[in-house]
Amino acid sequence: MQKIYDVAIIGAGAVGTAIARELSRYKLKIALVEAKSDVGMGTTKANTAIWHTGFDAKPGTLEAQLLRRSYALMESYAPEAGIPTERLGGLLVAWTEDQFQNLSNLLQRAHQNGVTDVRIISAEEVYRLEPGLNEGAWGGLFVPGESLICPFTLPIAFATQALLNGADLKLNFPVQGIQQEDGVSHVFGPGEQRVSARYLINAAGLYSDVIDHMLGHYDFTVTPRRGELIVYDKFARSLINHIILPVPTAITKGVLISPTVYGNILLGPTAEDLEDKTNTATSEAGLAMLLEKGRAILPQLMDEEVTATYAGLRAATEHKDYQIRLHGEQRYVCVGGIRSTGVSGAMGIAEYVADLLAEAGLSLAPKPEFKTIRMPNIGEATPRPYQRPDLIAQNPDYGRMVCHCEKVTMGEILDAIHSPLPARTLDGLRRRTRAMQGRCQGFNCQAHVVDILARETGQDPKFLLALDGREVQR
Ligand SMILES: Cc1cc2nc3c(=O)[nH]c(=O)nc-3n(C[C@H](O)[C@H](O)[C@H](O)COP(=O)(O)OP(=O)(O)OC[C@H]3O[C@@H](n4cnc5c(N)ncnc54)[C@H](O)[C@@H]3O)c2cc1C
Repeated sequence: MQKIYDVAIIGAGAVGTAIARELSRYKLKIALVEAKSDVGMGTTKANTAIWHTGFDAKPGTLEAQLLRRSYALMESYAPEAGIPTERLGGLLVAWTEDQFQNLSNLLQRAHQNGVTDVRIISAEEVYRLEPGLNEGAWGGLFVPGESLICPFTLPIAFATQALLNGADLKLNFPVQGIQQEDGVSHVFGPGEQRVSARYLINAAGLYSDVIDHMLGHYDFTVTPRRGELIVYDKFARSLINHIILPVPTAITKGVLISPTVYGNILLGPTAEDLEDKTNTATSEAGLAMLLEKGRAILPQLMDEEVTATYAGLRAATEHKDYQIRLHGEQRYVCVGGIRSTGVSGAMGIAEYVADLLAEAGLSLAPKPEFKTIRMPNIGEATPRPYQRPDLIAQNPDYGRMVCHCEKVTMGEILDAIHSPLPARTLDGLRRRTRAMQGRCQGFNCQAHVVDILARETGQDPKFLLALDGREVQR
């Protein structure tokens, strides 16, 4: 007989996995359904990786409210689960008189949003904080809480914790149809794939409108808004101390220059509306625009080596807020239009969705124990395994370097392959360990990594390599 779950969640990005984790603290049977072969492979893996305070969100919106709540939740969750973060602070630089005048509006907006530690600073202070900036800054707004986060570890942590607390993960399950009958949603994939649940959540990111249509709703249309980025080599890291933000516009937060938790520098993103929800290619025009902006903000950056370029697609809609709606009579919650802040907002969204489900009649009885997790550290702010003699003494594999650019050891690769949510592809290993993400982009270590993955999982090395070309977004 077909198992009937209490809740099925479609989409295992930051948002879907956060919801699965949040619900797994209750006595519920949960299924997390994902089209791809791993969690976190949609927009969640291709963004700017800033943990936003929400200081510049439109006051009174659901986005502003949930970003604020999420920030507090993440402040305790990230250290508990070992998610790499760095609280560097954001420095929003005004390059024109108009932008400088606008800073007081942004300050006021930040206060309205409950972000009260923000302050306007003089041009002198801007250059004291960031001596490498180009000439011409009028002043700035300093936002101490803006932080870096690892967008790779985040969904893996959420999903791992959900699994540990009893949720089921159905990968390679692209939802193609939904039927609702007698209070149960039947979710169908290709062939025999089927999941049935009493409550349904749509967290399908770029495809959240398509899933919404399957349930008879046409409240919004997702337009993929492409953002291209350039990743600079680690030698560039010392050029800046903070996240350098532009004054945002109505369309985009604009082009920023930011460190990453891995020790690189990012320049981007662009903002361009497309039709194709799969077009994550970079473009000559987009990269040229970024170089021009980068040169104007931080001229020395142009002397640094580029490690990689990539593009991600924001799930933009015709509305200016998250599209989160409860359809109580259908026991269905749509969590769409999570545009450019979903990594930061995921935990707040998850808590809000749990409240909506309770409103719709789902009983949320806590389990006697909500198991916690601790993720392997892939950030630079705390010691990595190769820097820890204690770990190497326990297991010499943590001293055997496989990826020399990113300093990834055999021990970490084996851990990722044998973890509760195991890496089964090269892309999965990249996001769990950083192997092949460095300046040589796998030129030196890929063959070795393929050998290890093939040996440990029994997969054909040729298959792993062929699949990689299709699954990697860059
Ligand atoms: C350039 C750029 C920069 C950004 N910068 C930031 C930032 O600095 N900070 C921040 O907080 N946010 C940022 N964002 C936004 C953030 O990345 C997104 O809001 C967030 O990743 C959305 O997560 P999600 O889970 O909703 O979507 P996704 O990560 O796209 O997950 C949706 C999942 O649903 C699955 N799915 C889709 N259709 C189906 C189906 N039919 N069946 C089964 N599964 C399906 C997909 O495969 C995917 O895994 C940025 C985005 C971009 C593009």
